[in-house]
Parts: sequence; structure tokens; C-alpha cells
Amino acid sequence: MRDSRALLVVDMQNDFMPGGALAVRGGDEIVGTVNRLAGRFANVVLTQDWHCPGHTSFASSHPGATIYDTFDAYYGPQILWPDHCVMGTHGAGFHAGLDIPHAGLILRKGYHAAVDSYSAFLEADRETRTGLDGWLASRGITEVVVCGLATDFCVGWTACDARHFGLAVSVVDEACRGIDLDGSLARAHRNMDIAGVDIVTIAQLAG
Ligand SMILES: [Zn+2]
Repeated sequence: MRDSRALLVVDMQNDFMPGGALAVRGGDEIVGTVNRLAGRFANVVLTQDWHCPGHTSFASSHPGATIYDTFDAYYGPQILWPDHCVMGTHGAGFHAGLDIPHAGLILRKGYHAAVDSYSAFLEADRETRTGLDGWLASRGITEVVVCGLATDFCVGWTACDARHFGLAVSVVDEACRGIDLDGSLARAHRNMDIAGVDIVTIAQLAG
């Protein structure tokens, strides 16, 4: 195992699983794959979407708004989601089948009331850092492999931002599932391509 490489496991939480508040189709199908993938990495980071009640990304926080509307936030357009991953709730917890005890960091994001954070590196204002870039750099990690939920939002933004911070980035497609809202999946793939993110299979992963 190369210690200069880390696996980022994005948002494998109950609310993103079938039956959850913001279910991603097939989200539960990748749990076993993600566990097996994590077994190949000495460095694993789990991310957790972690919102305060009344968070700005919730449609319920904007009187008259409908779920999946776009709200003009101070930092740009913000899709309005169902209430999800409220800090400390069952929905914000990890899927019971997720079995990665050697994960070295649980990185929570989205807990500032007025700013969303799809990315595990930068909040949606594109200025506020979560600190993940520093954690990785201080451990000598130069390459990240990304998997989890959802391909077109938190996985895609995390992968593109990892490139922004100078890391080599691969996304393991078979260990992700997407939401695909109004073409968001194709858009995410295009953005990842432009950013220089490699989309790979597990078989293609070296080491
Ligand atoms: Zn969220």
C-alpha cells in the first residue's frame, strides 16, 4: 500500500440511502464495494454531510419554496433539498453496513447555517476551507481516490476540488451512485473531465 494515497468515502449516510430523506437510487448497493475498496487503503477519510436544523440548503427554510427549486444564495445558485443529514439524527449517521474501522478521519461538512458544502474541501462560498487539504498535505498524501454518494454532487465537487488543491484524483465509478437531477450527472462528468479527474474501475486501480 502506498501511503501517499488516500481513499475519500463520501457521504455514505442513511439519508442518502433508499428510504432516506434524500435517497440516491442504488446507494445501498455500493456499501460492500466501498468496504472492500477501503481495505486496500491505509489512509481513509469518511465524509459526513452534517447540517444544522434550518440549514439554508433545505427548501423548508425558505417560505413558499419547493424542493429542487434553485435559491439565489449570496454565493450563487443553491438547489433546495428536502431536510436531510441533520446533525445528530439517525439520517445523518453512516449506513449500518459501512465497515471501515481503520478510517483515520471523519470530516463533517455543511454545518454552517448559511452555506452549503457539497465538496469535502471548500464550502459553496468557494472560500471557506474544511481543512481537508491541510490534513492530507501534512500526511504527505498527493493522490486521492474518491467513491460514495452522490456522483453528481458531493463526489463530483470533492473530486474537482481535490484537483484544485493539486492532488492526483481518481473516481471509482462502480463505487458511486448519482442523483441525476436535470442533467446533473452528465454535467458532473464533464466538469470532472475538464478538471483532470480520472474515472476508473477498481480493476484499473494500481497498488
Ligand atoms: Zn446536504
